[in-house]
Amino acid sequence: MGSAAGEEEAPRPLRVFFIPFFATGHMIPLVDIARLFAAHGVDSTVLLTPANAALVQPTIDHAAAAGLPLRTLLYPFPSATAGLPPGVENISALPPSECHKIDAASLLTRADHDRLLRLHRPDAVVADTHFPWTTAISRDLGVPRLSFHALGLFPICVMGALFRHLPHLSVAGDDEPFLVPDLPHPIHMVRRELPDFLRGETPITVAMDDLREGESGSLGVVVNSFAEIESAYADLYLKADRMRSWFVGPVALASADASDLAARGGDDPSAAANRERCLSWLDTMEPNSVVYVCFGSWSHFSGEQLKEMALALELAGHPFIWVVREAAGVEWMPEAFERRVEGRGLVIRGWAPQVLVLGHGAVGGFVTHCGWNSVLEGVSAGLPMATWPLSTEQFMNEKVVVEVLKTGVRAAAEGRRRSTADDEKGVVGAAEIGAALGRIMGKGEEAEGMRRRAREYGEMARAAVKEAGSSYNGLTNLIEELRAWPEKDAGTVA
Ligand code: UDP
Repeated sequence: MGSAAGEEEAPRPLRVFFIPFFATGHMIPLVDIARLFAAHGVDSTVLLTPANAALVQPTIDHAAAAGLPLRTLLYPFPSATAGLPPGVENISALPPSECHKIDAASLLTRADHDRLLRLHRPDAVVADTHFPWTTAISRDLGVPRLSFHALGLFPICVMGALFRHLPHLSVAGDDEPFLVPDLPHPIHMVRRELPDFLRGETPITVAMDDLREGESGSLGVVVNSFAEIESAYADLYLKADRMRSWFVGPVALASADASDLAARGGDDPSAAANRERCLSWLDTMEPNSVVYVCFGSWSHFSGEQLKEMALALELAGHPFIWVVREAAGVEWMPEAFERRVEGRGLVIRGWAPQVLVLGHGAVGGFVTHCGWNSVLEGVSAGLPMATWPLSTEQFMNEKVVVEVLKTGVRAAAEGRRRSTADDEKGVVGAAEIGAALGRIMGKGEEAEGMRRRAREYGEMARAAVKEAGSSYNGLTNLIEELRAWPEKDAGTVA
């Protein structure tokens, strides 16, 4: 073990394993985080199933080609046991009604994680919250496990407060508002806005005790967010749940250059063609004139709703990029729509280079479903947003934009139509959508105020990831703590 006199033994690099969940919105930011660790000299390995690896391989290859110690390690997806066809390994590959099958499949991956972690014995594990058993395996190996939620701390704290106090169970009906207790801001919600696992039983509800146990045995959570917008929630998380947190985001901003960002989430030929189409078109548009409309990697709308959206975009008159996931088997596009809006609007089918689009000077507003990554990417780009939450914790994220940061307005006003359950959602009409577009893209005092605040938060986000910024320090502090982990050497004895 000891070195010869006068010889300095080079310290062995820290080796960290990252285990993302099978959803694009979870994989993209955790791969970005692994890349950030690698950029700080940490030997980083991302454990993935084959079809999921294909989605992020361009990012990983690009980083590896630049000399960063970043790689993938594959394990099989439990297709047969989960009753899923070969190659279907991600929630974006399924209609919403079948996404629970991916949750159920994720509960079948324990043996592979156990095998690979014991075989390779990393010095630390950063695993998605869906994989709670990684805490016990890490404990056996004598190394720390960090948890990753793909969420900000605001929704994590809202859900924590709901589990602790159950205010949603003591209201008379699904539309009766209740106050979410404990929070630094006075946040009210209704039951219809809650994720399905708080409204009824899902594979995740059944596994909730395991999830919580895995969480509480972790060293803490790594968070794609930044202190300037969420530090009060980090304090609350520590006080109420005894959980430490490290802000390391916005990771999309920290993710190096444009070709890295272009490769994010897939680099197939249609994505490359969409990239070229979007960016060259944006170059021809006036500054702040374009509204970008996108609802993430797996959300779906009915044909009727898509039609109203098309009419709203046509009538509102602002130039737009609209990223569309088709309604299966339904003819919804108004006749000759694309011809009528030619030159003023782009309809993108498939994958758009979202971060590059949001960062383009021609874009002036963002219509979003409020997935956490999209919210943070909109904040980072300094843009006002029209919020249209659809499922999971997205109504909580909407509160961040509309009530905490005050940089956006709701695309659909109050009412029954706002719900996480598909069979409760009503159609939002073109006039209402158009009014929301007018509020974020217009010239009045309200729009100017939102724009000013959004710009300020965008500047804070960029400062957070620069050297000596809050998230840069969060990342370096975490890496230092992992390097100094007392049992590190014990865990690496073969
Ligand atoms: N995204 C993208 N192009 C698309 C759709 C989505 O680059 O056409 C990216 C987006 O930038 C974000 C992620 O996919 O990083 C979606 O994550 P989010 O949390 O916003 O939503 P989810 O897909 O999980 O609902």
